Amino acid sequence: MSRDVSRLDLFIDRMVSQRACLDFAIAETTAMTGPVFELGLGNGRTYHHMKTHIKGRDTYVFERAVASHPDSTPPDEMLILGDVRETLPASVERFGATASLIHADLGGHNREKNDVFARFVSPLIEPLLAPGGLMVSSDRMYFETLTELPLPPGAVEGRCFVYRR
Ligand code: SAM
Repeated sequence: MSRDVSRLDLFIDRMVSQRACLDFAIAETTAMTGPVFELGLGNGRTYHHMKTHIKGRDTYVFERAVASHPDSTPPDEMLILGDVRETLPASVERFGATASLIHADLGGHNREKNDVFARFVSPLIEPLLAPGGLMVSSDRMYFETLTELPLPPGAVEGRCFVYRR
């Protein structure tokens, strides 16, 4: 039986999917030592989830304007402040292809704008991921060399995407 999907349904699906995909990606990369990148801090909920469950890896946060919950605010040295369209290319020089896990939640409410932005940032993200590393995104990405993986149990199709190098 199909039913109409409300904004509340969409929000819950996104949250449930983010957690399922992050937990899957954390488990799949647990043996890796390269840094973790959070693209888009927002309130800091997904950052806090990653900090809670990832041990022994540095977590860097890319954000243009910090407005997070005090419990979910990274220390200054782990914050890469600025527009990702500029900070991601600079980070390729700094880090190379070393990231074990990259999570991106950069979008707003406009799905068409999110898609245009995802097309723009995909080639900026791709060179940062280490071989075997995973990328989790709330938006479909447009990678040339990464493989899209099936979603883990609990995630809802179209609400989250997982890619592996
Ligand atoms: N996952 C976060 C959480 O759990 O609280 C929510 C992230 S929120 C939806 C998106 C964040 O991405 C916002 O804080 C926004 O400032 C940031 N952002 C969007 N576009 C950006 C850009 N071009 N450069 C840097 N940060 C950006």
